Amino acid sequence: MKKPFKILYREKIVCPNCQNSEDFYEVIENATIFIYYLQNEDGSLEAIEEEIEVLGPVKFFCANCNTELTQMRNK
Ligand SMILES: [Zn+2]
Repeated sequence: MKKPFKILYREKIVCPNCQNSEDFYEVIENATIFIYYLQNEDGSLEAIEEEIEVLGPVKFFCANCNTELTQMRNK
């Protein structure tokens, strides 16, 4: 028997500027991206894995009016 899992109620993020509550995007200001390659017999490179190390602040925006909503997301 599986235990029923709790669905936590979370307050929805609503853009105070345009009331959008569906479309958002995130900007990572300082990140290092590692792409691992495997070299084939013929010398061509094949990307096998990608890793992103976030170093800087991550900002959250409304995709409709571009208002920054980072504070609303973190509360
Ligand atoms: Zn908005």
